[in-house]
Amino acid sequence: MKRRTKQVIAVVVVLAVLLALAYFGQSDRSMRFGTARIGGVYYTFGKELKEILSSEGVKLNIKETAGSAANLRLLSGNTIQLAIAQTDVLYDAWTGTALFEGEKLQGYSAVAGLYTEACQIVTAADSGIQSIRDLQGKKISIGEKESGTEQNAKQILLAYELTEDMLEEVSMNYSEAAEALEKGEIDAFFYTGGAQSAMVDELAQKIGLRLLSVEGKEKENLLSSYQYYFPCTIPAGTYLGQDTEVETIGVRPVLLVSNKVKKDVVRKITKALYQHVQELQAGIPTKLSLSEEEIPVPLHKGAEEYYNSVRSS
Ligand code: GLU
Repeated sequence: MKRRTKQVIAVVVVLAVLLALAYFGQSDRSMRFGTARIGGVYYTFGKELKEILSSEGVKLNIKETAGSAANLRLLSGNTIQLAIAQTDVLYDAWTGTALFEGEKLQGYSAVAGLYTEACQIVTAADSGIQSIRDLQGKKISIGEKESGTEQNAKQILLAYELTEDMLEEVSMNYSEAAEALEKGEIDAFFYTGGAQSAMVDELAQKIGLRLLSVEGKEKENLLSSYQYYFPCTIPAGTYLGQDTEVETIGVRPVLLVSNKVKKDVVRKITKALYQHVQELQAGIPTKLSLSEEEIPVPLHKGAEEYYNSVRSS
């Protein structure tokens, strides 16, 4: 065979392999769903939704991520097609403000707001730490980089005028933080998430906990400075040994979808979410309160279609 012919055959074979790879890659039509870490509620929600949607012919591939800020970056780049993010972080990403100064992250839209997440500040019952002020000089985890927890921790500490040099901050995800608190390696950790959280609950059973309150003028300042915070209480008895309710601030997580996902698929997802809400609730430790209201970004056309159909029926 001539050298030239061999070269042509080689090129054709390479092209055929590339085409086959592209084809089979595409044939896996599952959508990547960015949640947060195992142990949090986003991940559990993702797993439950995956079950429900698989019976509707929509395949999800649940991805562990650092949380809200990471999810918005990945969603905006279409690395993931579905995600959950806190409204406060979502607003900043969409408008290119605060943490996202100068880099608007868009290209996605909303399906529904899901439930309330409480800013939980956890310390051991025997730590002697009674209030956020007592965190001065202590070693605390403010949450993983690119999590929503991290942003809330920084804003809360700032409201209490506790600057970085007044305490030792470490960035751990909540499972690492729970383990470190149990071993006495840190004094407290922040976690913005649905209560009751399995991971905090486990810790309460093992070592006994105290949740610190966000209250008084600092709370008022936080509520007036940041549009998407609202007052929230963690009811007494949410965790073992927690005999009184705890005042704090909260945010809402939103289910988001890439604008590249087709309208009929998003309509199907929205419909399944509402129609299977009881099944979903059974697997989730936090009370769901689905809503299309007070979301800082537009609804996806498919979600809008579903809401309109319900309104007109
Ligand atoms: N709200 C948290 C975050 O964005 C995640 C909470 C969870 O995993 O349930 O960092």
